[in-house]
Amino acid sequence: MAGKQVYFFGSGRAEGNAKMKELLGGKGANLAEMANLGVPVPPGFTITTEVCTHYYQNKGTYPKGLKEKVQQAMARIEKIIGKKFGDPDKPLLISVRSGARRSMPGMMETVLNIGLTTKTIPGLIKQSGDERFVYDAYRRLIMMYCDVVMEKAAGIEPKEDEGIRRQLEKIMDTIKKDKGYKSDTDLTAGDLRVLVDLFKSKIRETLGKEFPDDHNEQLWGGIHAVFASWNGKRAVSYRKIEGIPDEWGTAVSVQAMVFGNMGSDSATGVGFTRNPGNGENKFYGEYLVNAQGEDVVAGIRTPAPVNEDSKSEHNKDLKSLEKRMPKIYKQLFNIQKKLEKHYHDMQDIEFTIEKGRLWMLQCRVGKRNGPAALRMAVDMVKEKLITKKEAVMRVTPEQLDELLHPIIDPRAEKARKPLAKGLPAGPGGAAGQIVFTAPDAVESKKQGNKVILVREETNPEDVEGMRAAEGILTARGGMTSHAALVARGWGKCCIVGCGDVHVNYANKQMTIDGKVFKQGDWITLNGSKGAVYEGRLKMMDASTENKLLNDFLKICDSIRRLGVRTNADTPADARNARQFGAEGIGLFRTEHMFYGKGSDEPLFILRKMIVSKTEDERKKALDELFPYVKRDIKGTLEAMDGLPVVIRLLDPPLHEFVPHEPAKLQQLAAELNITVEELSQRAKNLHESNPMMGHRGVRLGITYPEISRMQIRAILEAAAELLKQGKKPYPEIMIPVVCDVKELTDQFAIVNEVYRQVLAKYGLKKIKHMVGTMIEIPRAALVADKIAQVAEFFSYGTNDMTQMGFGFSRDDIGGFLPDYLKKGILPGDPFQSIDQDGIGELIEIGINRGRKTRKDLEVGICGEHGGDPKSVEFCHKVKMDYVSCSPYRVPIARLAAAQAAVR
Ligand code: PEP
Ligand code: MG
Repeated sequence: MAGKQVYFFGSGRAEGNAKMKELLGGKGANLAEMANLGVPVPPGFTITTEVCTHYYQNKGTYPKGLKEKVQQAMARIEKIIGKKFGDPDKPLLISVRSGARRSMPGMMETVLNIGLTTKTIPGLIKQSGDERFVYDAYRRLIMMYCDVVMEKAAGIEPKEDEGIRRQLEKIMDTIKKDKGYKSDTDLTAGDLRVLVDLFKSKIRETLGKEFPDDHNEQLWGGIHAVFASWNGKRAVSYRKIEGIPDEWGTAVSVQAMVFGNMGSDSATGVGFTRNPGNGENKFYGEYLVNAQGEDVVAGIRTPAPVNEDSKSEHNKDLKSLEKRMPKIYKQLFNIQKKLEKHYHDMQDIEFTIEKGRLWMLQCRVGKRNGPAALRMAVDMVKEKLITKKEAVMRVTPEQLDELLHPIIDPRAEKARKPLAKGLPAGPGGAAGQIVFTAPDAVESKKQGNKVILVREETNPEDVEGMRAAEGILTARGGMTSHAALVARGWGKCCIVGCGDVHVNYANKQMTIDGKVFKQGDWITLNGSKGAVYEGRLKMMDASTENKLLNDFLKICDSIRRLGVRTNADTPADARNARQFGAEGIGLFRTEHMFYGKGSDEPLFILRKMIVSKTEDERKKALDELFPYVKRDIKGTLEAMDGLPVVIRLLDPPLHEFVPHEPAKLQQLAAELNITVEELSQRAKNLHESNPMMGHRGVRLGITYPEISRMQIRAILEAAAELLKQGKKPYPEIMIPVVCDVKELTDQFAIVNEVYRQVLAKYGLKKIKHMVGTMIEIPRAALVADKIAQVAEFFSYGTNDMTQMGFGFSRDDIGGFLPDYLKKGILPGDPFQSIDQDGIGELIEIGINRGRKTRKDLEVGICGEHGGDPKSVEFCHKVKMDYVSCSPYRVPIARLAAAQAAVR
């Protein structure tokens, strides 16, 4: 073997660096990098992946000269540390670890505490003054070594649950049980001395070999085992799954062990270069005197703060590291600064102080919550530590979402198991008392209660109750069902399609998994995960100062190409969305004015129109409806003044609005001067077996042109009146559910006719507007070239396109989706994230064909996917002009669009 076999690191220098992952593995390269930075890492060396390759090509033997190189490197470690490997007085202990160029967590082997033998044990006891610590380290070495080196690396394959390690664990459990101990830490030095003898005889008996009592034999056994573990069963199957080539091989890193439990001048701790909870640029950490790393994590003793900034309610009375060991603290402080500056990101560090000497064991990019991620990204740009592009990639869409809604306190949630799971339809968390009807929700809220509205499924009549509730839970429905759409529009927590929920309206109770919940019982929802919990979990409001959020989103805006609009149906929603940064409305669903608050009158007139028998009757009702429609549209155009507003003509099948309650039927019959029987008959005539594919969308306008005419007049007159007031309205009139260009030609004739009339009426020369269509039927995408001859813009209705492309009902997918996901037939809910293979292909075909005909064709998306980060990235890739989503998802779409531009 020609190349260098061993790379040393330690004492402020290293022969390798972070770029040498191929040769030194991720771990070896990173340790070298830290050493090069002058950070005190316990000295060590890395045997290259090339040696591994040689080992496999030469029947498990090492290249010439390796033994000498390892010996020389060991001598360098000894010199730096001031201890000797195998020395009876001052013994050096080492660890042997694997390290592939890409991390393979837990797939390969590690052996710690190598160098403990009957000869070195007394020396270490003298040094540490702690016999228990030494015997505990020894029993760990034996357990690891016999498993990794003597069994696995020797190719022994024991029967299930009969591996040597398991057998030793059983011995330990027996002792603990006999003595009535609860935890490993209850074992005394005396217990451990007995235990290691029992371990050794068990190994002799099972494996027919002695546990090696020679330090060099242990070292080479460890090295051999790490190389062998590259071809261990776990590693091989992991590589197959992850597509990691077999030829890569692993490196072996050998490093001096350091101990933080060698007395009161020793300690161990963890830290973050900035506060991971709020992002403040302050060093934050905890430590324990005279302890091992795992003690900090185990939570048996309360760790002390490293400095004033790290003090909390729990630890404020404990002495900080800054006070206890000021010199070492200062050194640690400078190191963490240096590491952050070097890596350009917040680092999570682990350190150990052994007898007054500081060692850094690890540094890696630190995990953080949403508010912290946001703050760090903004601050680091200001500090010129990172570029704007880097900043945009530092905050995930999920983290941003945390800032926009109240969430369940993560600690409270971690301690609980969900009762049931459904589809995550509306984000954030909510805790409340169960109610089963919309009126009960409204009533209970009035009395000052927090309620969760639980329904089999929701319909437009539940809207007021949904508004009143903290959260909504339904047994049926998919991500684009009524409940989901409405909840998301309000930024309300909502779970749909939760099949385990069985509602009994008559008894006002529900059962989940056999357990009964009555009206008034508390439950808590996590709408971002779709998890339902029993009882009232603690909530927290993660929303931070808006300024920070705005600063961050401005950075996003400076990078993204894709526009971001909102789906809004009322002037209030439009104003709200504008504050979130919406650059227009991508979908105004006209029909929403007939739901919810203040809808009684227009709904009554609409119903009159629907059950009209003659054109005259219908026209009269439409004339009556006109002022309501115009008022709503005008308010919304005004709220979005200067920005485009896509207003869609009536879409749902008419029978959706037919009344069912006897009182409403009577009132309507009286108004129309007909009997209730006659009215019921007319309503029955409107019934369709498959309304989603029935008389809806443009089809209504084709058969009842007067409906389209009324709406188009309302839009253009609203715009004309605003123009007269000096405003800048910009309506885009959108025709839904189109499958052929001739449908559009038919409707455009109406637009042209009404446009001329409105110009004349208001004495105007021009009203800025566009006329376009939704592309939501697969056929429309295929004939998009023809459709674009007429349409000035396309907006993808991916809810319907997914429904019709898959043939999955958007309202009933909850019935089978869980099985599809469990069996891996679908990777995820296609109503949540665009199915890029199929539906995405249709979208791309439609865009390309449409733009072939009309180069400047405006293309957007207004289906629910417009707020899903992965789908937003897709929309960027296929060169849409904008995405449109519910107001609360606008910030997320701005971030996702910027990330797409960086990627
Ligand atoms: C769609 O189909 O994607 C769409 C936006 O329209 P709706 O959800 O109202 O059918
Ligand atoms: Mg649609």
